[in-house]
Amino acid sequence: MITKVNLTTKNYTDGEWQELQGTSKTVYNPSNINEKVGDMYFSTPEQILYTVSSAQMGFNTWRKQTGIERANYLYKMADELERAKEEVATLASREMGKPISEMLGEVTRGVNLLRYYAAEGARADGQSVPASDQHVLQYTKRVPLGVVAVITPWNFPVAIPIWKIAPALICGNSVVWKPAENSALTATRLMEIFEKANLPKGVLNLVIAKGRMIGDTLLEKADIDAVSFTGSTQTGTQIASICAKRNIKFQTEMGGKNAAVILNDADLEKTIPMILSGAFRSAGQKCTATSRIIVEKEIFPNFINSLQKAMSTLVVKDALDADAYLGPVASKDQYENISQYIELARKEATVIAEGRLDTISEGYYIPPIVVSGVGAQHKLFKEEIFGPVTVIIQAENFDEAIRLCNQSEYGLSASIFTNNMEKALLFLEEAEVGMVRVNQETAGVEYQVPFGGMKWSSSHTREQGQAALDFYSQVKTCAIKYSF
Ligand code: NAD
Repeated sequence: MITKVNLTTKNYTDGEWQELQGTSKTVYNPSNINEKVGDMYFSTPEQILYTVSSAQMGFNTWRKQTGIERANYLYKMADELERAKEEVATLASREMGKPISEMLGEVTRGVNLLRYYAAEGARADGQSVPASDQHVLQYTKRVPLGVVAVITPWNFPVAIPIWKIAPALICGNSVVWKPAENSALTATRLMEIFEKANLPKGVLNLVIAKGRMIGDTLLEKADIDAVSFTGSTQTGTQIASICAKRNIKFQTEMGGKNAAVILNDADLEKTIPMILSGAFRSAGQKCTATSRIIVEKEIFPNFINSLQKAMSTLVVKDALDADAYLGPVASKDQYENISQYIELARKEATVIAEGRLDTISEGYYIPPIVVSGVGAQHKLFKEEIFGPVTVIIQAENFDEAIRLCNQSEYGLSASIFTNNMEKALLFLEEAEVGMVRVNQETAGVEYQVPFGGMKWSSSHTREQGQAALDFYSQVKTCAIKYSF
């Protein structure tokens, strides 16, 4: 049984909770906009600067601990989160509308990520390398960066923060985490849960703030040493230019316009459910969501028929409904933005299929929609919509399908559906994306492998897996002449 509690956002600084008095905003459940979830308050610039200075002090303690000591804290964080799994999933679902079944999976991913990176505390942090001189021990060693600012979006309110915080901590950095406004209540609760692991003061900090203020204060004025950002390409590129000017390390994981390519020989019965899941789970609000479907000419009519049948079973429900496949979109802003694209689609494209609503609640519900009849230059084919809207386009043949897939300024993920091994392998070679998949949806990449994009989707670093350790550390080369 889950109790619904009203929450308030707070900062966590130097091992203490700090009440916020600044501007405020009431948070309502996007599945039912008459239900209050909590109240948001924001930090002042002074509070942010104070947090960063305490993170610098926290870093001085933390960097001296061994990897194995740090690991023990991460294991405790994992255990605490696991215990609170249902509560956190429910709160996040109420705050940003992700279906509860997906949210439970996301919290589990967070627990797994914490344990995966905890285990890194006992693994090699360098290599010994032969020296040309005799009696010289030469080796490399990963060392931390310092205070890392972690700026996260709302669409994975638990997994994305953890896939940044866990590797940052295990590498010996302290963290100042700034979550998105639409997931700040979940962030506050997560921090309360992580507090139970008793990390040293100043090691893990939370600041609640509006985006612009973070740009001015946290990024321009505070004494930070690195930034890890996930969010839109527009914000990410601004952050990258500030970090480049300060010459601090940064990574930006940004938007996508991911394509699924369906070839003539694809098994439609197995393919269609994966296409729908890629396009519409989380109401299409995943950076890796399938937002372009490229279908080879011969199979096009059959594909449309099968898709229409499958779409007629797709219903949008309250996110807390145990069998909700699709919930509402996250916020009023999201609702208005996506609705504009749907209006454009109704005017300039052909609607192929639509899902339907199955709820009496008043919320930010948008039934999923598939459209076609627009060219590769059209806004619907080019721009990231970040909602339950996907566009189908026909390709003459395999070569044109690859060309269309690569005709995007983004390069996050792409999939191909085929039984032809040669074409699958050629697609793996040719697709200009960071994550490329065969007979699997564009979303759903596992945590133990590198995650990130090409082109305007990323600053060309990678998150998760072992790749994250490269970002959150720098390499020192050491040499000792032990006998003359
Ligand atoms: P957003 O860019 O609006 O915000 C992301 C974060 O940046 C938030 O915490 C926000 O408060 C903060 N921010 C906003 N303006 C800022 C500024 N000037 N300076 C510093 N910080 C600022 O993105 P969003 O709406 O929260 O998330 C949706 C976007 O995130 C989509 O484009 C999606 O594709 C992308 N995304 C990418 C990945 C990935 O790994 N590539 C994963 C999830 C989401």
